[in-house]
Amino acid sequence: MTGLWFETALLPQGWAKGVRLLVVDGMIAAVGTDAEARAGDERGEIGLPGVGNLHSHAFQRAMAGLAQTRSPAGEDFWSWREVMYRFVGRLTPEDVESIAAQAYAEMLESGFTRVGEFHYLHNDLDGKPYSDPAEMARRIAAAAETAGVALTLLPVFYAQGGFGGEKAADRQARFVCGADSFARLVEQSRAAIARVPGARLGIAPHSLRAATPDQLAAILPLADGGPIHIHIAEQTAEVDACLAWSGARPVAWLLDHAEVDARWCLVHATHMDRTETTRLAESGAVAGLCPITEADLGDGLFPAGPYFAAGGAFGVGSDSNVRIDLAEELRLLEWGQRLAHRARGVAGSGAELFKAALAGGARSLGEARVGLEVGASADIVNLDAEHPSLIGRAGDALLDGWIFSAGRQAVTTVWRRGVRVVEGGRHVRAEAIAARYRATLAGILAR
Ligand code: ZN
Repeated sequence: MTGLWFETALLPQGWAKGVRLLVVDGMIAAVGTDAEARAGDERGEIGLPGVGNLHSHAFQRAMAGLAQTRSPAGEDFWSWREVMYRFVGRLTPEDVESIAAQAYAEMLESGFTRVGEFHYLHNDLDGKPYSDPAEMARRIAAAAETAGVALTLLPVFYAQGGFGGEKAADRQARFVCGADSFARLVEQSRAAIARVPGARLGIAPHSLRAATPDQLAAILPLADGGPIHIHIAEQTAEVDACLAWSGARPVAWLLDHAEVDARWCLVHATHMDRTETTRLAESGAVAGLCPITEADLGDGLFPAGPYFAAGGAFGVGSDSNVRIDLAEELRLLEWGQRLAHRARGVAGSGAELFKAALAGGARSLGEARVGLEVGASADIVNLDAEHPSLIGRAGDALLDGWIFSAGRQAVTTVWRRGVRVVEGGRHVRAEAIAARYRATLAGILAR
């Protein structure tokens, strides 16, 4: 049993002072307000619930910065994807575990306490399954355990190379599986995460490019009530290809052909017309926004104004992990809209964005209880009240200052299941994790 006491903390009903949380077996067992700290309590200044990072490809952390070149032919998402394919052709299971541990430690340091790993790197270098087909899933689970981040594993179904059942290319061979082998992979993934505290399982059809309608219908029941994630409408070329194939835009096609509801997370959904925007908002699904990656890849801007006005839910993900920073994702979500619309406060205030991303992140990752309340996992982030951008603020103004000014430097301590995993802004195992990561990266880049 641990007592955690905060000068102020954000509870589901709002900000409170003198918040004392009692943690038993990693879960919040009691919440007191206007309370005094007791002897032996751990103390914090500004307590917040940890946020779910709803979309990550952990291995891509290791190629951050390696695809920032310019060429006479021009660069875009598709040329970035070729770099990613070449990179993926070198990775061993040991590499993936090492890279993922580094990425997950950095996520915790920025205030993310759960990760949705959109996991598509299944097969060996020759494109054949490993002797244990869930080898890579076990590596992801091991990395999550090392870092202490909560894991929602989303094994990816990837069968085709393009719309209309186009055959997958050789360079996609490490991702590919059939509907039957995917069913086995889902079961083996369930076993792979079984010993990771608080781990959850969902499924992820990679995109409408990568699964035919029949395949989609066959695999969706495997979600078994858990989350269903899909990449959608990230690129205008994808919208054009979907229109050519089906006569419908991707989001409209999905809404017409699948029972999209609150279990779903539509990742990106960047390119929607007004009707799609309203329909997606009304479906109850979560839009999985990845503003840093979407900016990095030149995807385009999500229609945040109309979507939020229609009551749409969203969360944020670090996707390519080119930078890992919760506050920066939310800041860029708003700043992108400001640049495009020459207005301010388009997507929301820092406090509004934080609270919405907290709810959407939890829902999309299968977490029923969210926030600092009895029955929730004691996943808590503390901000530095002495940070220059937070001095003299209270309540929601603290979140505005954190998101739009202080950024990740203001995160001092993070508890996962009531145990400190970040102290003084650094992961408690940062040195060991980074040492292994350095050796891993040197090996990969020398190959
Ligand atoms: Zn992605």
